[in-house]
Formats: sequence, C-alpha cells, structure tokens
Amino acid sequence: RKVIIGGGTGFIGRNLGELLLTKGYDVTNIARMPGISNISWSTLEVAGLPKSTCAVVNCAGQQFMDFTKSWTPGFKQNVQNSRVYTTQALAKAINNSQDKPRVYVVVTGVGAYEPSEYNKYDETSPTTGIDFFSRLVLEWEKAAYVDPPVRLVIIRSGAVLGRWGGMIKNMFLPFYFGFGGRISSGKQYLPWIHIDDLIRLIQFTIENENVQGVLNGVAPHVITNEEFTNSFAKALKRPAVVPVPEKILDFLLNPERAMIMTKGQHVVPKRVLEYGFKYQYDNIDKACKEFAHLFPKR
Ligand code: NDP
Repeated sequence: RKVIIGGGTGFIGRNLGELLLTKGYDVTNIARMPGISNISWSTLEVAGLPKSTCAVVNCAGQQFMDFTKSWTPGFKQNVQNSRVYTTQALAKAINNSQDKPRVYVVVTGVGAYEPSEYNKYDETSPTTGIDFFSRLVLEWEKAAYVDPPVRLVIIRSGAVLGRWGGMIKNMFLPFYFGFGGRISSGKQYLPWIHIDDLIRLIQFTIENENVQGVLNGVAPHVITNEEFTNSFAKALKRPAVVPVPEKILDFLLNPERAMIMTKGQHVVPKRVLEYGFKYQYDNIDKACKEFAHLFPKR
C-alpha cells in the first residue's frame, strides 16, 4: 500500500506521512532535495509513478507568509507555479500510469471563496476568482483533473493549526511573551482545522471509496480572528491585548498578501460531515489547548 506525497517534507505532508506509516502504508515523498524516502520531481516526470501506488496526495507549495520575501511579481509566480505545476505533474503521472492509483487528493485552500462578512460558504458555493488567491485556487484545482476511474478529492483547507507549522509556528512566541492580539478589527472569520484532523481527513478520503469532489477542510466551529485570539491566549494563560493594525500588515506584507490575515470567509464543512467524518478537534478551545505548549510532547 504505497502512498506518494508531493511536498511530503512540509508541515502537512510530514505529519500525514507519519500518520500513514503508523497505519501500515509505505510512504514516498516527492521533494526538491534528496532524502531516504524522497524522489525528485524530475524523476517523477521521467519515470512516472512508482509501481503499486494506491494513493497520491499533493501538499507542495512555496510558503507565502514568509516575512523575509517581498511580494514581487517573481515571488508571486513562484507561489503560483509551485502549486499549479506540482499538481499538474502528479495528475499527468497518474493519467499516464498503467497501474493506476485509486485516488488523487490535492490540498488547496479556502482562499477559493471571496472574503466576506456576510456570505456563508459550503462546497457548492461559487468561487469567483476575484483576487490573487481565489484565482490561484481556481487554476490549481483545474490542474488537478485526472481521468476517471481515479477519484479526485480536493480539500480546501482553512488555516492548519498545530505547534510546528503554519500560523501557530509564526504566532507562538509573540503570544507566549504576552504580545499577542487580534488582527485588524478581529471581526473577520478565521476558517481553521487542527493538523491532526486534516491528516485524518486525508486518510479518510484515501480509505473511503465513495468520497470524491471538493471538501471544505475546516472545523465545524466557525470563529472570528478575535475568538481565536482569546482562545489561544486563554490556553497559554497570557493576555492578548496588543492588536495588530491592518495598515501595518498591509505595509509589511503588501495588501494583496495581507488579506489572508485581515479578511476571512465563513466556511462550513457540509460535505465532510455528510460523509460521516468525525473531528477530534471540533472546537477551538480544545484545539488551542493541544498546541499551547512551548515544548509539546510531539
Ligand atoms: P510547508 O511550507 O510546510 O511545505 C510545503 C512543501 O512544499 C515543502 O515540503 C516543500 O518541499 C514544497 N515546496 C515548497 N516550495 C516549492 C517549490 N517552489 N516547488 C516545489 N515544491 C515546493 O507548507 P504546508 O505543509 O503548511 O502547506 C502545504 C500546502 O497546503 C500548500 O500548498 C499550502 O498552500 C496548502 N495549505 C496550507 C495551509 C496551512 O495553514 N499550512 C492552509 C491551506 C492550504 P521541498 O522543499 O522538500 O521540495
């Protein structure tokens, strides 16, 4: 039972690989650097999918909340290509393979939905392609197309919360030292999912033959940035009274990129719940308690 993970060395990919190993899968990563369980993107292109691959997952993509990188046209291109081209390369390898995997899972983002204080989105809601991220997700998901009978599952993930990656890794120390606070008004929605639930959801989609199409990879508990801020601060037993003004983020990050933090969407996991997936962290307080430790057990 071999699973191929594009970007298997990253935050989501690494956690997914570890989970799948404990479930008895054999995991191979596709990565730019060599490693014991890695193959390169060019090997994939030339040699195709390894034999007896039962599932392919793509979690590759240049990190864009990198404060050291300016939001230049070149960097935006890299953010785009690292998602669209890797997704396309895996789809092509699947379409060309004789011994086809059963499922292709691509992790994209809730950035597909236009930020709004009023709209509520489930998986059937339209995606408008109105800003950089929603246009990116449209192209990214188009690149994922694979011929039936391979099942295609697209997980539009919210902010993935866990101690060692994504948003929490960036915010941990300011909050830990008592300098945390809401972003902008704090009223913007913050679609989120605990890392353990996201990787369990990916495993669920691999193992359930009836699952296909778009799934919103978010927890059922819809919260705002302010609610997250209060919950995280409470779990850390710290105050969180230093708000971050929108103007500062716009200045530091560029408004086009800063909107990931200053704007949000009300997203519900309608299809995920219909399929019967059970969340371990369905509530933000429970999730924050798990990762609010300087040196957690894992
Ligand atoms: P990480 O930055 O931790 O990992 C990204 C992975 O992508 C790395 O393993 C890296 O592999 C690979 N990668 C980076 N740049 C490139 C590139 N230019 N070309 C090819 N591969 C590249 O990200 P996450 O695990 O947090 O996220 C994975 C995916 O999930 C991303 O596409 C992200 O947009 C999406 N997502 C993440 C969310 C989050 O909150 N973390 C929320 C919603 C979506 P290597 O260096 O080994 O080649």
